[in-house]
Amino acid sequence: MSDAAQSGQVKRVAIVTGASRGIGKAIALRLAREGRHVVLVSRTQAPLDDLRAQIQASGGLATARAVDVADRNALGGAIESIADELGRIDILVNNAGITKDGLALRMSDEDWDQVLQTNLTSAFVAIRAAARPMMRGKFGRIVNIGSTSGVVGNAGQANYAAAKAGLIGLTKTIARELGGKNITCNLIAPGFIQTDMTENLPKEVKDHVMALMAVKRLGVSEDIAAAVSYVTSDEAGYLTGQTICVDGGMTMC
Ligand code: NAP
Repeated sequence: MSDAAQSGQVKRVAIVTGASRGIGKAIALRLAREGRHVVLVSRTQAPLDDLRAQIQASGGLATARAVDVADRNALGGAIESIADELGRIDILVNNAGITKDGLALRMSDEDWDQVLQTNLTSAFVAIRAAARPMMRGKFGRIVNIGSTSGVVGNAGQANYAAAKAGLIGLTKTIARELGGKNITCNLIAPGFIQTDMTENLPKEVKDHVMALMAVKRLGVSEDIAAAVSYVTSDEAGYLTGQTICVDGGMTMC
């Protein structure tokens, strides 16, 4: 930790993608509550403005940026301009994600490409852009939000599971490349979390998932935010390259 951080002078800047709702929103609220200056990113400005206002009303610091993370140039440019504007980037949470489910044999090229671009390539682009400011600050905490589907596979999710498994390889590689610079990189793999993404799944799927849980309840976004809070903390500097499944014991992966 730098002297300035130890004396409490540094306001850590945390970028959270996919912050407009669901897991990303819970992560943003948690990090803001812990004193981070949170940069909220997703495609639509209005919910980000609402969240920024909510954080500011409770005494926190937040900035809202509408960016499509599937647009490489827009994402890379946004991260560079955030670093210029706020002077630092300390924490990056690559959370934005989509599903385009279907059996592999029937999956279109478009559904494959869109999911890979949004869920995997965006994380690489964001890390590449954020790494320099983190190195300048001699501190970094990168978190990729994966999925248990990327660890154990899931029928109907070839694109999604491949993207999330790709994030595991990316996480380990970045951990190895940047560990010497006091930058950690970890992956949090949620199991089944109640958000818009899972709301419309059939009851049979939810019942099946519940039957697999050791902890007999579906997850909530705050369960994931709690794990992100720890891996992005100053004290988590010796934890890197890990896949942490936060899934109520569904996979025990
Ligand atoms: P969600 O409720 O559907 O929210 C997705 C977020 O990503 C929204 O803020 C959305 O905002 C943003 N987003 C989507 N595409 C984007 C793009 N191209 N550019 C910028 N932002 C984009 O999903 P969630 O359940 O919170 O999931 C969050 C993450 O957790 C995802 O990576 C997901 O794969 C992972 N996960 C979720 C579960 C679960 O059970 N819910 C399980 C495992 C993993 P806009 O639409 O406004 O852009």
